[in-house]
Amino acid sequence: MGMPIRPSGPARQARLRTLNLELVLDRIVDAGRPISRTELIAATGLTRPTITRIVNRLIEGRLVTEVSRAPGPGAGRPMIGLTLSGSGPAGLGLDIRADALAACVVDLTGRVRHTAFLPRPADVLPRLGAMAADAVAAVAREGLTVVAATLAVPGPVQDGVVRSAPALGWRDVDAVTPVRAAMRGLDLPVTVENEARLGALGELYAGDPAPSGFLYVSGGLGIGTGVVLDGALMGGWRGELGHVTVERDGPPCPCGSRGCLLGFASLPDDVFARAEADDPAALAALATAGSALGVALSGALNLLDIRTVLLGGTFAVLSSWLTAGVRAEIGRRVPAAAWTPIAVRPSLLGPDAAAIGAALTAIDGIRRRPSAWLGNL
Ligand SMILES: [Zn+2]
Repeated sequence: MGMPIRPSGPARQARLRTLNLELVLDRIVDAGRPISRTELIAATGLTRPTITRIVNRLIEGRLVTEVSRAPGPGAGRPMIGLTLSGSGPAGLGLDIRADALAACVVDLTGRVRHTAFLPRPADVLPRLGAMAADAVAAVAREGLTVVAATLAVPGPVQDGVVRSAPALGWRDVDAVTPVRAAMRGLDLPVTVENEARLGALGELYAGDPAPSGFLYVSGGLGIGTGVVLDGALMGGWRGELGHVTVERDGPPCPCGSRGCLLGFASLPDDVFARAEADDPAALAALATAGSALGVALSGALNLLDIRTVLLGGTFAVLSSWLTAGVRAEIGRRVPAAAWTPIAVRPSLLGPDAAAIGAALTAIDGIRRRPSAWLGNL
C-alpha cells in the first residue's frame, strides 16, 4: 500500500472529488444490478461519509436512483440498491435511412424511450431538426432531459464534415448547422458520425456476446462497416466496404473507380416485398448482392481475426436471402474459416442499430464525465 493521497490545494481537491464521483458511477454502471452503499464502499475503498456524499449528489442530479432489492439467501429485510436512473439525462439519435428518417431517445440505463420515423423527404436536414425538437419535447413529459444528439450519416465523416454521401448528393457537407437551425430555438449540441460505426456501437451496447469482436456491415444509402475488437470500436478503420473492388473491370462507380461492391449490392427499396412474392428478378438481384458482399467481406476477414459478421441496416431485413451467398464466398475465400468458423447473422437491433448507437453515444459522455452534467450541484 502506498501513502494516502493528500490533496494540497483546492484544485487538487476538486480533481479528487471528480475522480471519486466517476469511480462510484463506474461501479454502479458495471454492477449491472442494484448495488448497495456497503458494496460500493467495498468496491471503491472510499469511506462511508464520502460514499454518502457522492451518492446523494448522484441522486440529486438524477443520474442514480434507489430501488429496493430482494434480500440474499438467509438475509432478513430487503436492501436498498442503487441503479442508473431512467428519468434523468437522455441521448438523442438521428438517422438518415434509405426509406426513412429516424429519431430515437435512449435513457441512461440504455433503454429506448422514444422512436419516430418519417418517410425520407428531399429536405433531410431541416426535417431532422424538427424531429429532434419533437423528440425532446415528447420525452420531457416523461421527466427525461435530452443532453446531446448524434446524427448518423451514410458516408465518411472527417472533422465533423460529411465528406461524401453520393446517394444524398452530398460532398463536404456541414450537416450539423441546418439540423440545429431547424430545432426551433432548442440549444442542443449535435455531433455527426458515420452510421455504420454507430450501428456497430449500438450492437456492442445491445450485448452481442461475440467474444473476439465483430464486423458490422450496414446496407442502405451506401455500404459501410464498423469493427468492434476487445469491446471497443476499432479506430483507424475506414470502413467503406461499398468501394471495395469485387470485379476489376466491373461497372463504373460514382466514386470514379470500377467494379465497386456498391454496383452489385445496392438494392431497390421494394426488393423485400418483391422477394417475399418470389419475384425471380428480385431473387436474382439478392443472390448477386449476397455473393458480392461475401467477396468483399472475405478481403476484410483475411486481414482481421474476426469471427462474427453482423448484417445491419437494410441487409438485416434482407438477411434471409443474403446470408447463404455471403457464407459460401467466405467459405471459399477465407482459408482461416476452416479452423475458426465465421458466423454470419443479422444484427440484433436490425435497421434501428445506427439510431440507437447514435443515442447511446450522446449519453456516453455523461456516463464517463458525470461532473460535467452535475455542475456545482
Ligand atoms: Zn466506388
